[in-house]
Amino acid sequence: PSQTGENGVLPGLLEAPNRVAVLLPLPLDHPYDYKVPPGLDVRPGDIVLVPLGKRELTAVVWDPAEREPENSTSDVEADIVEDRLRPILRLCAAPPMTPLLRRFVEWVADYTMAPQGAVLRMALSVPDALQAPKPSLAVRLPASREKNGEAADADIKWTAARRRVFEEAKDGVARSPADLALAGGVGASVVRGMIKIGLLEQVEVASPRRFETPDLDLPSPEFFGDQADAVQRLRASVQDGAFSVSLLDGVTGSGKTEVYLEAVAECLAAGRQALVLLPEIALSGQWLERFRRRFGVAPAQWHSDLTPAQRRDTWRSVAEGEARVVVGARSALFLPYGELGLIVVDEEHESAFKQEDVVCYHARDMAVVRARLGSFPIVLASATPSLETLTNVKSGRYGCLKLHKRHGGAELPSIELLDLRKDKPTRIEGLGQSWLAPSLRAAIAETLAQGQQAMLFLNRRGYAPLTLCRTCGHRLRCPHCTAWLVEHRGRSFSVEGEGPAGDLQCHHCGYRARRPECCLECGDSDSFAACGPGVERIAEEAAALFPDACRAVMASDTLTGPNAAAKMIQAVQDGEINLLIGTQVVAKGHHFPDLTLVGVVDADLGLFGGDLRASERSYQLLHQVAGRAGRAGRPGRVVLQTSDPDHPVMQALRSGDRDSFFEMESQMRQRSYLPPFGRLAALIISSPVEADADGFCRNLAKRAPGQEGIEILGPAPAPMALLRGRHRRRFLLKTRRDLSPQAVIREWTAGIRLPSRLRLQIDIDPYSF
Ligand code: ADP
Ligand code: ZN
Ligand code: ZN
Repeated sequence: PSQTGENGVLPGLLEAPNRVAVLLPLPLDHPYDYKVPPGLDVRPGDIVLVPLGKRELTAVVWDPAEREPENSTSDVEADIVEDRLRPILRLCAAPPMTPLLRRFVEWVADYTMAPQGAVLRMALSVPDALQAPKPSLAVRLPASREKNGEAADADIKWTAARRRVFEEAKDGVARSPADLALAGGVGASVVRGMIKIGLLEQVEVASPRRFETPDLDLPSPEFFGDQADAVQRLRASVQDGAFSVSLLDGVTGSGKTEVYLEAVAECLAAGRQALVLLPEIALSGQWLERFRRRFGVAPAQWHSDLTPAQRRDTWRSVAEGEARVVVGARSALFLPYGELGLIVVDEEHESAFKQEDVVCYHARDMAVVRARLGSFPIVLASATPSLETLTNVKSGRYGCLKLHKRHGGAELPSIELLDLRKDKPTRIEGLGQSWLAPSLRAAIAETLAQGQQAMLFLNRRGYAPLTLCRTCGHRLRCPHCTAWLVEHRGRSFSVEGEGPAGDLQCHHCGYRARRPECCLECGDSDSFAACGPGVERIAEEAAALFPDACRAVMASDTLTGPNAAAKMIQAVQDGEINLLIGTQVVAKGHHFPDLTLVGVVDADLGLFGGDLRASERSYQLLHQVAGRAGRAGRPGRVVLQTSDPDHPVMQALRSGDRDSFFEMESQMRQRSYLPPFGRLAALIISSPVEADADGFCRNLAKRAPGQEGIEILGPAPAPMALLRGRHRRRFLLKTRRDLSPQAVIREWTAGIRLPSRLRLQIDIDPYSF
């Protein structure tokens, strides 16, 4: 009784709460308490600055929940315990994080088993956005001087330059110092000097709008048939405003983009924001152009190439509702939308949506979750939907809108299989080995002779994937990874393998080296040979075969920045290039009206390795590449070079019978309880010391749960057994569909201590293995 106040209530409860939970953007599992200084009013969602050790961090006030750390293990936790109840420093000038985004962060953390703080970090990816934006500075004449003119002080030195600036500034309008200098035809230093002596004064003006409002009065295309049905149903689902998932399933060129832009228009008309996720945002110049045509303005963009200032502006504009449409890569899912009403995931089958770092998540799946939490519709678009999505359509969970024909009556290309065992590439004088079979060469020659464009596709960067000693067979490998070193010769997209030989790179860690003078094993000099082709080597062959063609190589490493890609694509569209040689960056989404021939150098490439999705992904990629041919009036032709023409993937591509292929894939996975018919999770254990990784795995294996409906495979070397100097081991956990791999893993790893330097990464729904 002595502890209660006058009315029998604990005294503290009568006042505002003096401590709140705060989630920090660090790999921590839960929020920690901070003291609220007197006079500060904070609520859940508020973005605040808090001390942590000697640092100051931007963090978010979280909703009260149970959250006592059981035993502090990590250094950061120790810091917090020590700093317990340090006060919040201040409230940041940013819109609070919405309850929806907070629930989404928790949901993603829970599902992916990543620490909540690590997920929050993706949503707070621009800490300096949280200062109030600085108003721009402008200059104008001080009011007194406007009246008195220059006569007022005779003691000021009136140079001709100053007089010109003065004349320009006489109208009293505030403008930027740079503009004023330009108008007066003087250097910036003149204007600075005038500010210094009071001839001009500085004033603050509001920053201009960063994103213009899309124009909803521009005419939409005319839609008939399948397209009209799809538009109407998507518009209805947006109007309805409830959670629903629609697959927009149509062959390449059938108008999926035009159709879903109508859903975006409907969403904007309803006063809400829309998000379009694209797999390769850096290469989406054509998409942006299409958007501008439909809405008269550019959308906000979100991807890793933005400058810090662009990130800050965009983040803020999304939070404040100024940006109405965002087009972005997977991380755009974590932006602070206040009024999101629609998500479109274009090319939903793309592996680029899967992140396998820090927080392992699939952006398509998490986009569906975000739509469900926010109760709004989501559209998944693809010409080759993932097996997961098709299975959800089949079970009725997702709706499906089909576009059967290419727009404008363009025919789908005819696909031919070229059997490399019968039609062997013959050697070319002076080049040695060749990779293009005679009939493919003939097809290219014919296409070019007719004034049309051809494309050669090989999904492998560089000149040669392997360098080997002819004397002893020694192979050059990366010292830090389980990988061969890849030789690169090209310098820019216009180069065709003419750069200096011998620049070796690891495609996994970025390690670079020159090819050694002599073999490190047998000591022979000049014994190294390049084995196998990369795109640069195909370009070299093309140069020998078609010296008069305007050739270009397009791969992610030969394109420096989004502008290079845009320029190149423009050059192809303008017909300046007639033989394009590239990796998967040429496969996606581009519309090249005069491209009528696509040659796939090695159609079997993606089928090697024990990947669960090898067939599905090969089919998707090759279908996508094939879709580049014959998009305008002229029929397209696709030649696939293969050593296994009877393979189901090749047969499905040739016959165009996608549905039977997926049915077969689906039965195969069903039989072995593989996703989407069972669940899968990977535990990757890594350490710089191999024995440590193995020892930890042995312990984990001993306590592996053994209940009905789950199966544990491993430990085994992970697909990249050595990566960036870390030795990697892997367990695969397979469970029945109705069991939760997360629960199994929680129980399995409960109370386990990670030795220092050892890392345990959990990947729920691993994508490739
Ligand atoms: P997809 O996204 O399915 O590959 P697109 O939306 O890119 O197809 O359409 C292919 C081409 O056809 C584009 O140039 C597009 O502008 C055009 N197109 C599609 N539908 C229409 C339409 N209803 N009216 C006018 N042009 C259309
Ligand atoms: Zn050797
Ligand atoms: Zn490496």
